[in-house]
Amino acid sequence: MEKRDYYDVLDISRDAGDDDIKKAYRQKALKYHPDKNPGDKTAEEKFKEATEAYEVLKDAQKRQVYDQYGHQGLSGGGFGGFGAGGFGFDLSDALRAFMQDFGGGFGFESMFGDSGSSRRRGGPQKGRDLQIRLELTLEEITGGVEKTISVKRLVACDTCSGNGCESGTNLKTCPRCNGSGQQQTVSRTILGQMMRVTSCPYCNGTGQIIEKPCLDCAGNGRVRGKTKIKVKFPAGVSSGNYIPVRNSGDVGPRGGPAGDLMVVVEEKDHPNFTRHGDDIVCEQAISFSQAALGDQIEVPALDGRIDLKIPAGTQSGKIFRSRGKGIPHLNGYGRGDELIRVLVITPNKLTTEEKELFGQLAKHQKHRPLRADKSFFEKLRETLGV
Ligand SMILES: [Zn+2]
Ligand SMILES: [Zn+2]
Repeated sequence: MEKRDYYDVLDISRDAGDDDIKKAYRQKALKYHPDKNPGDKTAEEKFKEATEAYEVLKDAQKRQVYDQYGHQGLSGGGFGGFGAGGFGFDLSDALRAFMQDFGGGFGFESMFGDSGSSRRRGGPQKGRDLQIRLELTLEEITGGVEKTISVKRLVACDTCSGNGCESGTNLKTCPRCNGSGQQQTVSRTILGQMMRVTSCPYCNGTGQIIEKPCLDCAGNGRVRGKTKIKVKFPAGVSSGNYIPVRNSGDVGPRGGPAGDLMVVVEEKDHPNFTRHGDDIVCEQAISFSQAALGDQIEVPALDGRIDLKIPAGTQSGKIFRSRGKGIPHLNGYGRGDELIRVLVITPNKLTTEEKELFGQLAKHQKHRPLRADKSFFEKLRETLGV
């Protein structure tokens, strides 16, 4: 199915503010909420679609990626996407997202009971999302890089395989709700009898209870651990870009699914280059005679070196541009440039011989300012060893 534009989905303009986005989503979500449209698949799809759009547009970083690269940016190539398999938003994710932002405060719950909460539909609770920062060098950014990182996170307890029960014991069906995870309460109001369905407080809506908790995780089903994760960074990323890795956050309690991990790029300072967008700038010292006579020099580049021709008569501060030697554009097409700023270095210590030569030069300049005297300059260059 062709994905619709998120702004179209929510019926808002591309410069809509956070409040407009929230308002528009609330309207759509209330209209298409599954509890209001039981069994209506179209409404369910619309609910999911609106929630997905909202989840992206309410997040400044995700929104920026979407504005720049569209759906492609959020799912393709691993960059800024939602992990392998793209942005697969299922109904329980959508309901959870909705309840997270609109769970209380405007009477939704009292309208529908808490049947819209994720407990009944989503099963066990999901673990926390984690975020880590990772430094990349400009060379790594230029080539694109795969990194293996070690992430401290809550992992499933080995002893009990995550279910929280001491070995030899098992989960028991909750006697309070007979495993349904729900309880019904009936109250009398002036409108007549009202029935409310809420999650069972005894088993927290899971329908199962632990008889004897596992000693290693105290029945929580998870322990502190470390996981090695491989993350691929495409060429051209910059500070603040992030790679989401699905299911690599903390696992949920008692077998609950894991949250996501966001790996945020931080650019390391480079000894030779500073980055300006996708261009890089470096400074290159040249001698007095190189500037006057011209020369062919080698300057560092992000991948290898560049042969640079210094024309005769180059002034200090002149900038040379080497096309396509900068950072690759993130969209995969082309690269920025390398800008080389040459600085003429005036020698601050001279040998007696050099002093003599400069003295001669000064005399020459007085009488015939800088007329090419090849043999003389050649000699000067040799003397200065450049
Ligand atoms: Zn355990
Ligand atoms: Zn129960």
